[in-house]
Amino acid sequence: MNLVAIIIAALAVVVSLVTVFLQRRQEQRAAYREIYTTLMSDDLHQGRWMIRKISEASDIPKDELDVRLLYRTLGVFDNMAMFARHKVVPVKWVLEVWHHPLKEMRKGVETLRKNAKQRNESSVAEPWPQLWILIDKAESYHSTLPCCPLDNSWRGRIRRLAAPSRWRRLRTRSGAAT
Ligand SMILES: [Zn+2]
Repeated sequence: MNLVAIIIAALAVVVSLVTVFLQRRQEQRAAYREIYTTLMSDDLHQGRWMIRKISEASDIPKDELDVRLLYRTLGVFDNMAMFARHKVVPVKWVLEVWHHPLKEMRKGVETLRKNAKQRNESSVAEPWPQLWILIDKAESYHSTLPCCPLDNSWRGRIRRLAAPSRWRRLRTRSGAAT
């Protein structure tokens, strides 16, 4: 009888652990959807494309509203990086969807950061610190989808094999813009 009681108690623990895990995953997905909607809103989309066009200080817009939009865009990206760091959103999803946009933003973010530091705009020593970590991660991220060149290292091959069969890379290539 005691053994049965122990087994039932153990099962109860397992069930509650699984429930907690599923609940957490659900919450992560909901949080990701929310930040994705924000990042894809008209103004933030525009802000991201403005950042992409910046490669030197003279490219930074002079209009104050534009500058505010740039900073707001960077703020939301920095926030997404923080969410990823604390696993509030699935890191894998963040990298899979954003690795190219993040890489394309690098030069612009670097220029804006340097400019903000030179102008002493705030007491922050290093603006958008978490975004840098995420951009570095995006640089080294290699998707199994056709957006990235085929990775033929052993690591790339194993990752391709592990991908669900219907989502494996086809021989034909197709491009997509985020
Ligand atoms: Zn890619």
